[in-house]
Amino acid sequence: MRFLITGGAGFIGSHLTEALLRRGDEVFIIDDLSTGAMDNIASFRGHPRFDYVIDTITNRPLLAEWVDRAETVFHLAAAVGVRLIVDSPVHTIETNVGGTEAVLRQAAKKSKKVILASTSEVYGKAEKMPFAEGDDLVLGPTVKSRWSYACSKAIDEFLALAYHKEKGVPVVITRLFNTVGPRQTGRYGMVVPTFVRQALRGEPITVFGDGRQSRCFCHVADVVEALIKLVEFEAATGQVYNVGSQEEISILDLAGLIKEMTGSPSQIVLVPYDEAYEEGFEDMPRRIPDLTKIRSAVGYQPEYNIRDIVRSVVDYERSRL
Ligand code: UDP
Repeated sequence: MRFLITGGAGFIGSHLTEALLRRGDEVFIIDDLSTGAMDNIASFRGHPRFDYVIDTITNRPLLAEWVDRAETVFHLAAAVGVRLIVDSPVHTIETNVGGTEAVLRQAAKKSKKVILASTSEVYGKAEKMPFAEGDDLVLGPTVKSRWSYACSKAIDEFLALAYHKEKGVPVVITRLFNTVGPRQTGRYGMVVPTFVRQALRGEPITVFGDGRQSRCFCHVADVVEALIKLVEFEAATGQVYNVGSQEEISILDLAGLIKEMTGSPSQIVLVPYDEAYEEGFEDMPRRIPDLTKIRSAVGYQPEYNIRDIVRSVVDYERSRL
């Protein structure tokens, strides 16, 4: 098949590209390199079934041309990373809402399928665990910029479902939980690459808050497999699916695990949220996906555990040192 991946030079997009090329598909990508990097696509840049353009998806004539070339669009281009979202709220809202609107509009014109990468962030600070796709979203006040990310991605979901309902565009919405693996940059907050780099350099490992907040980390290879299974599953059209792992770890334990697995002399230090992000920053204490829906749809079961995940990031970061 022929796929267009927006954000294809990003962390998840580049792994998805590789997996599709391995299967024999043709893959085209558009990326503006805002958080993606040429390094991420270096190993397959010359591949005969691969093509790319460095531009923004809000360049509508160009997007129209590239959507035309593909049968299906994986829309991954978005502003991601808590640090980036807190620092650049205008960019976050404009990229996420404007970009998705542009992609859906083109897909509707050309009758193409769209797989939208949304985020577990949309569940916000809901307390009912695990989070199921039909649950209420619980967001904080508009004066706290973190919530603009959840809200912009929730609008993306509404928009995709609206295009499906009103214009018959085949869309599949995937809510990606904390995804980790080689090529993820720590620049915009992401905790695992940040801790691994700190540990390898012998710098303090910065645990925000009291470290009792927890997350479930999923390896990017498991996420990519889920995305590919869902694109092939006809009945997924018009549906929302959680994609992630259910193995929960506190951030303090994660810091300890990374320190142990790297044999690092680094100190683990606690940094108040106000200092780490901004005053009044709200974090989620827990975030666990209910995987019932994706399991029964495509038999999804993540294979990597937290040690495998940390090992793959440590190997990657070591190779770059
Ligand atoms: N975190 C941390 N130290 C860091 C970066 C992040 O303690 O240097 C924490 C962050 O406050 C959150 C968790 O790690 O509780 C996961 O953060 P990340 O930004 O990776 O993803 P999130 O789940 O917040 O989207």
